[in-house]
Amino acid sequence: MKKYFTFIGPIAAGKGTQAEIISKKYGLLHLSTGQIFRDAISSGSELGLKVKNIIDSGFLVPDTLTNEIVKDMLGKIDLSKGFILDGYPRTINQVYALNDILSEIGIELDDAVMIEIPEEDIIRRISGRFACAKCGQNYHDEFNKTKTEGVCDNCGSHDFVRRNDDKPEIIKTRLQHYYSEVEPIVEFYKKENKFLEINATGLSIEEVTKKLEEALF
Ligand code: AMP
Repeated sequence: MKKYFTFIGPIAAGKGTQAEIISKKYGLLHLSTGQIFRDAISSGSELGLKVKNIIDSGFLVPDTLTNEIVKDMLGKIDLSKGFILDGYPRTINQVYALNDILSEIGIELDDAVMIEIPEEDIIRRISGRFACAKCGQNYHDEFNKTKTEGVCDNCGSHDFVRRNDDKPEIIKTRLQHYYSEVEPIVEFYKKENKFLEINATGLSIEEVTKKLEEALF
């Protein structure tokens, strides 16, 4: 069975949500660079201090630092479980770095999966996002509510957070970065025959999961 994936696509396309669902269901590890950075910021670590302003203003963390973090992480995990990379690679330099890292550890990516939604849906989706402050489970005011209002389905916590970089003015910057970087990444994976595209326009979370499962496994 295929087990090494990266999920690419614009912010709020559902990469994180789908990576979470699919990784749980198939026993894969869910590796999100954005989450690693957010955890570092919350813990006040050296990495967190380095990246806080960059992330809060909607810019990308420099490639060298991001690649080091990913290399370190991939060196520590149990690769036999398989993984979904969520939000990495995001630039063509990261694509090349990932290729090098994977060949060093002797594995190959199976698919680079693009989850697509139109630009006009992005702001609506982002404005409702929130997450459990304790376990990180993601929710949405409209599309993915907690079963009991104010209580996390996963861990029962009553504390929730909204991301600083989900503010409308910051979203614009993040999208500009995305659209300026994505084309060569898509070209690269198309040439490698690893590119899969899922159109998530107008679909529920469950419908996107079903499409993904059909395409991946
Ligand atoms: P995400 O949770 O994937 O939307 O990532 C949140 C933020 O973390 C991004 O807007 C970037 O500032 C930073 N980040 C996450 N992944 C990367 C990456 N692969 N390269 C550079 N910056 C990243």
